[in-house]
Amino acid sequence: MENAANKTELAGMTREELTGWIIAQGLPSFRGRQIFEWIHRGVDFDGMTNLPAAMREKLKETAVAQSVEIRLQRISALDGTVKFLFALRDGNCVEGVLMHYKYGVSLCISTQVGCRMGCRFCASTLEGLVRNLTAGEMLGEILAANRYLSQGKEQKPEKVSHVVLMGSGEPLDNYDEVVRFLHLLREEEGIRISLRNVSLSTCGIVPRMYDFARENLPVTLCVSLHAPNDEIRRKTMPVANRWSIREIMEACRNYIRETGRRVIFEYALSEGVNAGEKDAAELAELLRGMQCHVNLIPLNVVRERNLKGVSEETVREFMQTLEEKHISVTRRREMGDDIEGACGQLRRKTIRENNP
Ligand code: SAH
Repeated sequence: MENAANKTELAGMTREELTGWIIAQGLPSFRGRQIFEWIHRGVDFDGMTNLPAAMREKLKETAVAQSVEIRLQRISALDGTVKFLFALRDGNCVEGVLMHYKYGVSLCISTQVGCRMGCRFCASTLEGLVRNLTAGEMLGEILAANRYLSQGKEQKPEKVSHVVLMGSGEPLDNYDEVVRFLHLLREEEGIRISLRNVSLSTCGIVPRMYDFARENLPVTLCVSLHAPNDEIRRKTMPVANRWSIREIMEACRNYIRETGRRVIFEYALSEGVNAGEKDAAELAELLRGMQCHVNLIPLNVVRERNLKGVSEETVREFMQTLEEKHISVTRRREMGDDIEGACGQLRRKTIRENNP
């Protein structure tokens, strides 16, 4: 039986690296370029029509072109949001969410199978970290979504134009592969997604935030803050025991200085934890004068967790307090509420159903 795991994953290579690999296989270098272009168009070996059939068969024995397949998809009847369960070659699964906006098509991708950050409100971390995704797999999530978008469309299918690293996993805990992936997005003749259309969300791994600022990539940094002070933050986020909010704020200011981009703070409201008027006022004070934006999210209640959500009124009041204090704030649109849209929930559900 063939062992897919031992094959070389081509999707994670730059055009130059792939060309080098092709030459090492004893093939002419222009084949590397052709294969690179096919891969970034989401095409597997069988569809690489400008390659001789025998060459394709030979390559299939040692390499993998497309690393990700769609195992399951659910389309929201409410807003057309699509939730994917992506299958990786080793049998693991991760989730992605495709959202249609006026400005384009946005895909939320996963960066790890599971997560080791242990946030108490999050479904992705319930079984801890299984493994890091490779850069090729992160790209593969986008390519799989693009294949989905082109189904049945001969002419000019829509393509993913915006990417958010906000699915399962902590991107800065898989730093090297995430940075490699970001570089792949702007390779010539590749998928060509502008890094200005990319957001990366972190729970606040401070040293990596400094490293990331030094990469000088125009990516929007989002920070999962979820609390106005360390005491509250420690209740739901174990990572808060390692780095203080003060250290996170310094790292954010540094990111703003280095990249010129504003930072987005995510704040999931949970009744009795962080959603009071006093919390809003404290948050406003913390962020005063900073080039930032707050994204309020009514907590998505996860079955396995015992945290509560909030009422519409609580969200409104919290938002109003921030606005009165001149903090830029929006409420995140809840998309795909009927399709287990929140992180980790579809994978959890599939695990539950397969292990009754
Ligand atoms: N590890 C990264 C990115 C993945 S989580 C991070 O922590 O930012 C993406 C976002 O969803 C984070 O802001 C996370 O805190 C939030 N999130 C996780 N579970 C949630 C839930 N049940 N309800 C609302 N937001 C949640």
